[in-house]
Amino acid sequence: MGKIRVHEIAKKFNKSSKDIIKILTDNQIDVKNHMSTIDDVGVRIIEKTLNVKTAAPKKEAPKNNAPKKEAPKNNAPAKEHKILKKENPQNSQKFNKKNKTGGNSNNNNNNNNRNNNGKFNNNNRYNGKKKQKDTRKKKTTGPGAFIKPEPVKKVEVDPNLPVKIPEILTLKDFADALSIPANDIIKKLLISGGGLVNLNTELDFERAEEIAIEYDRLVELEEKVDVIEEILKEEEEEDESKLVTRPPVVCVMGHVDHGKTSLLDAIRKSSVTTGEAGGITQHIGAYMVPTSNGKITFLDTPGHEAFTSMRMRGAQSTDIAVLVVAADDGVMPQTIEAINHAKAAGVEIIVAVNKIDKENANIERVKQELTEYELIPEDWGGSTIFCPVSAHTQEGIAELLDMISLTAEVLELKANPERNARGIVIEAQLDKGRGPVATVLVQKGTLHVGDAIAIGNAFGKVRAMIDDKGKRVKVAGPSTPVEILGLSEVPFAGEICMAMESEKEARATAETFIAYGREKMLSETKSQLSLDDLFDQIQAGSVKELNIIVKADVQGSVEAVKQSLSKLSNDEVAVKVIHGGVGAVTESDVMLASASNAIIIGFNVRPDPTAKSAAERDKVDLRLYRVIYTAIDDIEAAMKGMLEPEFEEKVTGHAEVRQTFKASGVGTIAGSYVLDGDIQRGSTARIVRDGIVVHEGPLASIRRFNDDVKEVKTGYECGIVFENYNDIKEGDQIEAYIMVEIPR
Ligand code: GDP
Repeated sequence: MGKIRVHEIAKKFNKSSKDIIKILTDNQIDVKNHMSTIDDVGVRIIEKTLNVKTAAPKKEAPKNNAPKKEAPKNNAPAKEHKILKKENPQNSQKFNKKNKTGGNSNNNNNNNNRNNNGKFNNNNRYNGKKKQKDTRKKKTTGPGAFIKPEPVKKVEVDPNLPVKIPEILTLKDFADALSIPANDIIKKLLISGGGLVNLNTELDFERAEEIAIEYDRLVELEEKVDVIEEILKEEEEEDESKLVTRPPVVCVMGHVDHGKTSLLDAIRKSSVTTGEAGGITQHIGAYMVPTSNGKITFLDTPGHEAFTSMRMRGAQSTDIAVLVVAADDGVMPQTIEAINHAKAAGVEIIVAVNKIDKENANIERVKQELTEYELIPEDWGGSTIFCPVSAHTQEGIAELLDMISLTAEVLELKANPERNARGIVIEAQLDKGRGPVATVLVQKGTLHVGDAIAIGNAFGKVRAMIDDKGKRVKVAGPSTPVEILGLSEVPFAGEICMAMESEKEARATAETFIAYGREKMLSETKSQLSLDDLFDQIQAGSVKELNIIVKADVQGSVEAVKQSLSKLSNDEVAVKVIHGGVGAVTESDVMLASASNAIIIGFNVRPDPTAKSAAERDKVDLRLYRVIYTAIDDIEAAMKGMLEPEFEEKVTGHAEVRQTFKASGVGTIAGSYVLDGDIQRGSTARIVRDGIVVHEGPLASIRRFNDDVKEVKTGYECGIVFENYNDIKEGDQIEAYIMVEIPR
């Protein structure tokens, strides 16, 4: 399986590629140029010809105990999927060890790690065990094999061992993998009526297996996860000696109209006067501000939704969140949301109390209100930094920047600028003249013009880079935002950008993305938690924290649920309400749940339509209840693995109340119009008014023109009467459902 390029092997044996090509062609191995890859057989031939002894072959099958010791310096990486370049193997060793012993080491470390790689850390939080498993797996198949300095694995191809092949491969690759001459296979197929094939004919696994059987050989499907892992994971701990301090990446969050945009503008302007040449920043989605304590990178898309949507895609972009609270308005619903989003992501929060120039500004009140959310100012004995500012007068802006730098210093944000660049797409669009343009925040390594890069299903070579001042630049180091040109297509915001060894590799990575579909890839690498399999996950040790988002009709319920839920924590799982609020379940809630692997619980509220489809798409477990204790019971049962086989409600249709009538002996008749589906006799229905469930109960009757009917379909009008409920109003929505049994 180990493939190696001609130039790599040439380097290894201190020969020219030409020499190697000659040896190979002399031995009937077809290679075109120095970039051609050869397999183990080729390598052996070269070794034989050059009479080199490689390290003693390991006796066991490639279960891997790769020599940890240093490798011959010039050694070329043996590649498996040709997808990713790996770090130094020692790193991964170190990482594994650390992972085992210091699961939750100290905060700073975590931060550092997390900030660079939100996704995996994110997973890490929930499935320490899984992570370990992964790393173990990695050892045998993944990076170990990639970078192993060990010369060539499997010196003898044991024909009894199954050979791993991908789902689809060309006949040539197949022949190489099994060390069978391709011509022989072509001939054999022709004779046996297997059809006319050539070297480039693609074989699916089934066909490949048939051919293998002909040769009395075994093949097995290469583990797909490997490729996926290679792409999304990577990021072991860096070689500490190469880490250098990088600027913090900051985002601004807070309630609407509290001055997020104004503050970002004020900061940007302050930086212009601070003097770096270049003038007004152009808009590229992020900008860097020079300060006396170093640079600070600001993400220019304010709001926690933008922040969390990036996190959902698997990468954390931000180190510090500036929470903007207007001094004349205080803590508002989105302030709380922002706090919870930032907390769930584990980023440091600095509070900017804005609009202090206003007459009715009341900084103390803001401080007071925020104590409820564990943001306690330092002068009150807490540890949260509060900066009174005015985006209008620029008062306090310099102090805010100082505080950000200070916080960054404590966080010890570091990155290795020497490695291949890795970053996150902040925004991207198709430019008429320039083609696909993406703004990338480099997170590790250094991106150069000319680098081959892969971003999701886009790939290419960096043709040009433009910084936040509109200047063309050749290199961009950690925490630097740059606009890049040269991609094959427009990537998604939040997608991870990886610099690759060659454009070919970049293309291969992008193709893998396309082939597997990113949705699928994400769903495979990120298992969304659901109550149904909670117990199994707890047992497997992959869930240590059960994150819950609570939405309810009144604040009282939110609090009650929070308290009851927290009491459910036991030795194995900590139940944590990461966000609670009043009102319908929104898309932002679903995003937070998705990014934080949380379950959403709603009381007497419904999801709004976008939230509903988002939950379906992201496979977020969204549960709606009428009574608090049933929710508590459910979760408790789920934790114990005793969730009973249950009935599930199936919504059959919605109707809108257009008019109400009172009829003696009957009660209120809701003259309704069926909006979708149908309303069936005997079903239960809820009355939703402004996103809040005001009643839920059985229907007494449905009528059309004085006749009781069995059902009323979309587009028809009818009279609906509820059992024992008359407080129906015009404009109410009726959601009818029946209960169907679902086996667990
Ligand atoms: P965003 O929705 O949080 O981005 O808020 P904006 O930046 O759009 O600001 C909302 C409103 O507050 C605008 O009318 C701003 O002019 C005003 N505003 C923002 N910052 C300040 C400030 O420091 N002082 C005063 N007086 N008004 C401000």
